[in-house]
Parts: sequence; C-alpha cells; structure tokens
Amino acid sequence: KQVEVKRNESRSAEAFAKAKQVIPGGVNSPVRAFKSVGLTPMYMDRGVGSKVYDIDGNSFIDYVCSWGPLIMGHAHPEVVEAIKKTAEKGTSFGAPTELETLMAELVVERVPSIDLVRMVNSGTEATMSALRLARGYTKRQKILKFEGSYHGHSDSLLIKAGSGVATLGLPDSPGVPENVAAQTITVAFNDLAAVKLAFEKFGEEIACIVVEPIAGNMGVVPPEPGFLEGLRQVTTQYGSLLIFDEVMTGFRVAYNCAQGLYDIEPDITCFGKIIGGGLPVGAYGGKRQFMEMIAPIGPVYQAGTLSGNPLAMAAGYTTLKLLTPAVYEQLELQSQKLQAGLEANAAKYNVAFTVNRVGSMVCPFFTDKRVTNYDVAKQSNLTYFNHYFESMLHLGISLPPSQFEGMFVSAAHTDEDIAKTIAAHEEAISYLQQ
Ligand code: PMP
Repeated sequence: KQVEVKRNESRSAEAFAKAKQVIPGGVNSPVRAFKSVGLTPMYMDRGVGSKVYDIDGNSFIDYVCSWGPLIMGHAHPEVVEAIKKTAEKGTSFGAPTELETLMAELVVERVPSIDLVRMVNSGTEATMSALRLARGYTKRQKILKFEGSYHGHSDSLLIKAGSGVATLGLPDSPGVPENVAAQTITVAFNDLAAVKLAFEKFGEEIACIVVEPIAGNMGVVPPEPGFLEGLRQVTTQYGSLLIFDEVMTGFRVAYNCAQGLYDIEPDITCFGKIIGGGLPVGAYGGKRQFMEMIAPIGPVYQAGTLSGNPLAMAAGYTTLKLLTPAVYEQLELQSQKLQAGLEANAAKYNVAFTVNRVGSMVCPFFTDKRVTNYDVAKQSNLTYFNHYFESMLHLGISLPPSQFEGMFVSAAHTDEDIAKTIAAHEEAISYLQQ
C-alpha cells in the first residue's frame, strides 16, 4: 500500500522520546506530533530555499513552509540579513521603533480596506483581538463562524474548528466555558442560505462574521461565487462587522490578499504567517472608525510586551518587499503545473482525487466529489491519505501531515522540485490500490 523504503529516523525518534518527557506530546503545537498519521516527526536541522534537512540527514522538498509564512522559501538571504542587522541593534525595547511604521505603511498601501493596523504576536491574538473589537464596537455578543474553519485557539473561535482540531477530532475542546461557546453560531462554509437564516433569527445580536475568505484549515476550499458578496451584504444589512481572517491567505494568494482577489472589502482583516516572514507576528487592521475603538485612542483594550518586535518587523517587512506582482505570477505558474501533474497521475491510476487550489494554496483530496465545505472534505479517503503521506516522506517530499491542511508552494520551488514532486506522487499513488 505504500513505498517500502524506510528513511533513517533513529535520531529523530530519540529526540522525540526525549521531548515527550518534558513537553506535552513532545510538541509545542499538536499537528507536529504526526499522531494522526502514526509516524515519528522529523526533527529539523535546517532549511534552505525549498528544502528542509532533518537531524538524521534526510532532505525533503518542503510544502509545509512553516505552515505558510515562508513564501520566499527557507532562510531567504535577504530576510536572514535583515534579522541579523536588526538583532545587532537590540532585540526588543517595549518602545516604538520606526520599523513598525514602515511595516504598517506597507500593509495600508497594499490593502485598501485598512487605514490603521495593530501588530500582535500570532494569528490567534489577531483574531481574538478582532473579535473583542467587533463586540466592543457593536455592543453585541454573538459571532458567526464556519464549520471546519480555524481562527486560532481563543475560546470563542475554538468551536467546530478545523486544522489540528479536525485532524485530532476534537470539535468542542474542554476548557471553553459553556456560556462563551453558546455565543458562537456555526454554519457550513459556502452555505449562504444558512447564514441568512441565522441572521433572521439572531441578526440583532450578532457582532460579526469571521471567515477565512479561502478556507485553508479543512484542506483548501475556495469560496463559491457570490458567497463572500453575500456575507458582505448580510453583515451590512444587520449592522454586524465582516472580519476576514487572512492569517493564511494574506499576501499568499495575491499582492492585495484574498480581498483583492475577490474584490470584497471586509471591515476588519486579520494577518499572521507571511507578515512575520518566519518570526512570530500577527496583525489586525481596518477602517479608522473601527480601529480608533482600540486603546489608547478608545476603550477596547489590547496590548503586548513583544508586539511590533523589531526582528519580526524586519523579517516581515523584507518578505513583503520581496513579494512583487511578478512573484505571484511565478507562484501561480508553478502551482498550476503541480496541480496538473497531480491530476494526471490520479487519472492514470484511476484514484478518486480532486485538487482544490487558489494560487499557491494547493490541496489534493482523496475523493472525486467537489469539495465545497468541511462535510465533503471529511468524505476524503483518510486511509489513502495516510499511506500517501508516508510514501511521499520516504520519497523525500514533506507534506502537511493531515488531509485537513493545504500544501504551500513557495517562490523557491524550482521546475525540478515540481517535477520531482509529481514523479513521487505518481509512485505513491501507484501503491494505493495494492
Ligand atoms: N487563522 C488562520 C486562518 C490560520 O490558518 C491560523 C493558523 N494556521 C490561525 C488563525 C492562528 O494563527 P497562529 O497559529 O499564528 O496563532
């Protein structure tokens, strides 16, 4: 059922056993433990461009790319140089630096829906703060999110979530107070009729809709035509705010983010991943009328010891500067090639298979159904996925270890990388029906 060759993993196995003694499950973020695929995670030694190298000396073409931030590839020389130069001048001040303004100017320039932007330290913080802002602004309690979407692990958003929550089958985490969970309404992604029904019932109580404009945590699921427009319309009608969680899609799918691609203006946008260039960053921004609710101008409180950290700003700013429109064209071409190769392989071996893709977010599902929401994504053949994932590892390709995550193509992925990946994929799926 899968490629036989066993990569050497003895040092990683040893490191993992040691880590489990002192870190819960051996990891600082659950999906890294490879629990659902039943394997030993690779312990990383270094990354260069499109490749990562583990401590056993194996190398892999990497499509995890730190779960999205490394759109320019691992250890991009200009990003590394910017971090080094900045670090020499001090790593943190807890006082303003000009770098923060440069970064904010760049975000405001590229994203027309944003007048003011506040830096935080992770995507979780960005969405959590955006929710507080929406609730503070509207003076309403309820929020609406979509099943299988992941917006970080704050209490209100950890309901029927995607990503690791979906992979590990933990839709309602213990520890979230019932009265908080009760304020979160969930409906299926792409189901505008269900959104409208929820608003007919609770519209006056709903502070905001939070949506990944392209869902990326149930695998990749693009919005159906009219869906995002419908969310914009219904939130405006009821005086609720529309929050785009662009933590994954921001500066990934287009120069102006997903909102530029689909030409929809949300009220608040959340960022993370790419804007930190591989260092811990998140951000949330929007029109002045909303953002001026935040302290110190307004009463909605949000703060951070390390927010706007100089190293993170330097890495993020340099990454955004490198991301010219030409880079997005290249990402689109490479990703198209990858998709076409995967689809041709599946057709050749008659494996039920669908590739969802928007730009460099690519997701092969083991189903022939059109994947439009989490319920359909769950019908993917997860046994096939696990065998495929393991085979690909043995063949030197590092994929996200879950069907409910997308692959990220970076600007460092060469023609040769894509060709090798397609060849490995063919070999991997040729074993599936044996
Ligand atoms: N929102 C989205 C859309 C995400 O994909 C993620 C993380 N994958 C988050 C929020 C949370 O970000 P972080 O892991 O930086 O807290």
